[in-house]
Amino acid sequence: MYHIEFDIAAVFVTLFILYYIIFRKGLSKHANRIYLCMLVLNLAAEFSDITAAVINNEPALGGLVIQYLSNYIYLAAHSILGFMLVIYLFYLIGYEKHEKAAQLMLSAPVCVILILLITNPFHRKIFFIDENRNYAHGGLFFTLYVTAAAYMVFAIYLIIRHRLVLARARASALLFFILISFIPIVVQIVFPLYLFTMFFETMGLMGILFTIENKDDIINPTTGILNRYALQMAIDRVLQTSGNVLIIVKIPNLNYYNKMIGFSNMNDILQKIAKWLEKTCNRYSCYDCNRGHFAVLLEAVDDKTVNALKQKIIDQFEKPWGKGEFSLVFPLQIGVVHMPDDVKTMENLLMLIDAPFDGKTSTELDVVKAISDYERTVLIERLIDKALRNKSFQVYYQPIWDYNEGKVRSAEALCRLVDDEYGLISPNEFIPVSERNGAILEIGKLVFEKVCRFYQEGRLRKLGVDYIEVNLSVVQCMSKDLEDVFDRTLSKYSLNARHINLEITESATAGNQTILIDTIERLRSHGFEFSLDDYGTGYSNISYMYELPFSIIKIDKSILWKAIHPKTGRGQPNAVIYLENTVRMLKDMNYSVLVEGVETLEQKLFLEELECDYFQGYYFSKPVQEEVFLDYLKVVNA
Ligand code: C2E
Ligand code: MG
Ligand code: MG
Repeated sequence: MYHIEFDIAAVFVTLFILYYIIFRKGLSKHANRIYLCMLVLNLAAEFSDITAAVINNEPALGGLVIQYLSNYIYLAAHSILGFMLVIYLFYLIGYEKHEKAAQLMLSAPVCVILILLITNPFHRKIFFIDENRNYAHGGLFFTLYVTAAAYMVFAIYLIIRHRLVLARARASALLFFILISFIPIVVQIVFPLYLFTMFFETMGLMGILFTIENKDDIINPTTGILNRYALQMAIDRVLQTSGNVLIIVKIPNLNYYNKMIGFSNMNDILQKIAKWLEKTCNRYSCYDCNRGHFAVLLEAVDDKTVNALKQKIIDQFEKPWGKGEFSLVFPLQIGVVHMPDDVKTMENLLMLIDAPFDGKTSTELDVVKAISDYERTVLIERLIDKALRNKSFQVYYQPIWDYNEGKVRSAEALCRLVDDEYGLISPNEFIPVSERNGAILEIGKLVFEKVCRFYQEGRLRKLGVDYIEVNLSVVQCMSKDLEDVFDRTLSKYSLNARHINLEITESATAGNQTILIDTIERLRSHGFEFSLDDYGTGYSNISYMYELPFSIIKIDKSILWKAIHPKTGRGQPNAVIYLENTVRMLKDMNYSVLVEGVETLEQKLFLEELECDYFQGYYFSKPVQEEVFLDYLKVVNA
């Protein structure tokens, strides 16, 4: 008497899984479709197993044809399942495009089994039903076991071999669920009348559902298409083969549009864009990588297809998205990345995807340049690190000419990074990098320490220098221990803070003003004075000038150069008016005014007429090393 309770339970579980995945959609990818096929086969095997068992138990309940048919369906569906599992793994690993021949070869054993089943009525070597309507195995039934075992072993081999591509956690989950399907083979020996097989196989399929087919962690909740994590997993796989292309599609500054038309309207538009991309890119996978950055992965594709798709996207973005007053035309940046020719590492690829839209070009993203810029940044980071370890940062000094006194009373300390292999790296390059990775805190300490040590020696003071200007990055201003670090260094060299002027750039004032004002106030209470650097470079906001107590305003060299260019001596009349009025206004506001970038006598004479207080520039001296600066002072301050 066969027990069908486990089979009935298995039917319910299979129906539950089917309901779950059909209603959650997302079955467009090949692997998902194969999973669905496996479920349907599983259901067929369960029903036929139940029917066969019921009739085997009680032949009066069904005719001989139904008894035969149900056994045939069961054995066929069950045999195909093993083969489907291997194909499913092929798709997960990403063989789909490349290994058609292998798939064909793999189907040979299951084809043999199917032929044996079809011809069974003639040879009765697989199974037969005797005159008492009892079901019995034939002489070749073992071939079914052998084939099923062979597919299982091959599946296990595939999982272990490609565990990195599958991601370790998923690989071990898959192994676990496949091994679960083996359990009934052992249990069935002890309880031959209990039909466990389908139940455990269904459990295995359910396990796969929750580990592999679970979409929650790979779907972007806003747009409903695959997310950045899914892309990361796919890239892991495709970076190893050639002929794959990633099209990156970026829409600028989402925050700005969010504010302009509101979050939910913007989300609607993003959804539209995502759905359009998915529909247009049809058989290729589309990913929403957040912040208006999308990617389309084209596997095993030729240039013609890529260009056609790219043009389609460009054309579509020339039309507005959204409806009515919320209809917008977005500037678009699109980049085509050939893998692995353009990028070889996941890091570089993710950088390309994540890097914010630079807004300079409306369409083409220069992939090669973006990567070389990024690699340069990585190099600079390495050089900064090395220079910090070897203590090879240097500080140069550029004299500041005091017009009223007719001598040099101060200098600006400027940091220099000289590498044995790469030569001189400009601070314009390494300071922004160090601000981004935090190394500026160490560099800042180092510069401050070197300046204090130099001043404390006494030679500067003897030669008439009252104070040194030290650049302070906004990142330093945000650091909690800045005050302590400065304090400790000053006491180490028994130096008074009035010998240091701290320069803050105008751009710093665009950030968090409360913290900045607080830091400046605290440092002022220690005796530091402040200068405002690079005045007029675009962040002008007069309100902070009322809030922040600067003693010197340093007008940026670009303002001077537009009025009188150092090379041509010419300038724009309006730039002259702007410079004259800026100097006058600042002086009326009781600031001392310094102009940077004075390179020619003509510039100097012009500024003298405007009665600027301080001049700094190559006309006087470039930034130089300590000893050179001292020699210079001996001449000009004699
Ligand atoms: P900055 O503070 O505005 O410094 C003035 C820059 O203008 C210096 O460039 C200086 O060499 C250059 N300069 C001065 N006079 C002339 C001139 O007549 N002609 C030309 N063409 N250039 C002139 P440098 O040393 O390359 O520094 C660039 C920027 O890097 C600095 O601009 C400053 O913002 C930053 N920086 C340099 N050292 C440090 C540092 O120790 N800490 C921080 N936070 N920033 C630093
Ligand atoms: Mg400066
Ligand atoms: Mg400056």
